[in-house]
Amino acid sequence: SSAAEGEDKKIWTLEKESELRFEVGPDKSFTVVLLEQSAEIFGVELAVNTEYHFSAGAKVAVFTWYGCKLQTTRTAEVLYVAKDTPMLSYVNTHIQLEARRDQALSKLSKGEKAVGPRVLVAGATDSGKSSLCAVLCAYAVRLGRTPTFVDLDVGQGEITIPGTVSAVSLDSGTLSIEERLSLAAPLTFFYGHDSPGENPELFRHMVSRLAECVEQRQANDRDAAAAGTVVNTCGWVDGLGLELLRHCIDALSIDIVLVMGHDKLYAELMADSEALPDDAPPRTVVKLPTSGGVVQRSAQQRRQGRAARVREYFYGAPHAERRASPALTPTLLELRMDSVRVCRVGGTQLSGGLLPVGQAALLGPTRVSMVKPSHDLLHAVLAVCHPVLKPDGTALVPGEEGGLDDAGQEIADCNVAGFVYVTEVDMVGRRLVVMSPCPGDLPSAYLLVGGIRWSE
Ligand code: ATP
Repeated sequence: SSAAEGEDKKIWTLEKESELRFEVGPDKSFTVVLLEQSAEIFGVELAVNTEYHFSAGAKVAVFTWYGCKLQTTRTAEVLYVAKDTPMLSYVNTHIQLEARRDQALSKLSKGEKAVGPRVLVAGATDSGKSSLCAVLCAYAVRLGRTPTFVDLDVGQGEITIPGTVSAVSLDSGTLSIEERLSLAAPLTFFYGHDSPGENPELFRHMVSRLAECVEQRQANDRDAAAAGTVVNTCGWVDGLGLELLRHCIDALSIDIVLVMGHDKLYAELMADSEALPDDAPPRTVVKLPTSGGVVQRSAQQRRQGRAARVREYFYGAPHAERRASPALTPTLLELRMDSVRVCRVGGTQLSGGLLPVGQAALLGPTRVSMVKPSHDLLHAVLAVCHPVLKPDGTALVPGEEGGLDDAGQEIADCNVAGFVYVTEVDMVGRRLVVMSPCPGDLPSAYLLVGGIRWSE
């Protein structure tokens, strides 16, 4: 490769199977233009002569299979070309997944039962799990597949805000270079914490519910079933973390586990799969190399990353204004405390005077309880439930006979409609002011609180 200087513009000539890696520093932005031939970012192809913008904190590789000429503008904190990448082993994995998708599709079109590959990516923190998921999904989508991407990483997830487990059906409209995923409508369950260890039972419960929903969706959609599922997980892989990982593998009927360069985890998951009963569907465990470009993130960077995800939820992606998709217009809504119900799933911070003192501890990890609005809610990110339906099909309204006590458990079992952020708690005026990503009433008056907080 060679780099020619001009103002702050640089021209790069990349050889085949090499990549330009960059990290954008704080308060900086960085632009990439593909001038000739072809290149991709986490599996998504760049269009020629199109400016792609990256904002502070982005850590990215522009990879080329056949060689290319790129132009970059402005400086990045880290900026170099690497010839040694694991892309060949990733594309080989992709080819094997494609074979399984073809098999599944041909069975399904004969009316037989079949599902495509259900792949789970496991590994330590910063081992490149999310990036591999992105590449595998993008390659599938480029071939016209509609895989389901499931993100169980409650700390550094990609689909929506931290504290959630989500699934989304991908197609060519949902992949973008600058945002990785620019999503239509994800299926999201609110777990409420940024580590699965906070409430492991609830985490298991949410993963199982999400798995049921994914299975149901695929049962009704032949292409989605054949394309299968790609699952991202969090980097906690020993002790309880490993137990929870095993639960994810079972709940989502995973048949291919990809382990990112972690010998111990690979051996443990391999032993699990060898110990499967003979009549159980086989499960393949494969070890894949981590890219040398994967950047280690400090605890502070992880916190910043989480805050950025929440900000993006309310305000849209940093560069959304330059594209056809409109930026979000977050609105402040005033909610009367008496007309909403704030609930907590599991946990001990109770209760709305519903329970005698001392009973809070008896609540199970997946029990729903009501939270009396207080200043504690300031800066909390709340999940907004879908309307809770009564047996007659109408929506339950807080204060009605049969209120939360009847609806409560359903709330813990349902996916959520979206999120709001509490900007003001007015105890005297009995109102909450919340920020919502779009104008209009909330879909329901039932809100879930966990431990996710954000301050602008
Ligand atoms: P987590 O522990 O948060 O789950 P992870 O294992 O999913 O992390 P990634 O998110 O895939 O790891 O990668 C960590 C960071 O490294 C990300 O910011 C990603 O964009 C960056 N990255 C991955 N691959 C490359 C590469 N080849 N060149 C430059 N940056 C990269």
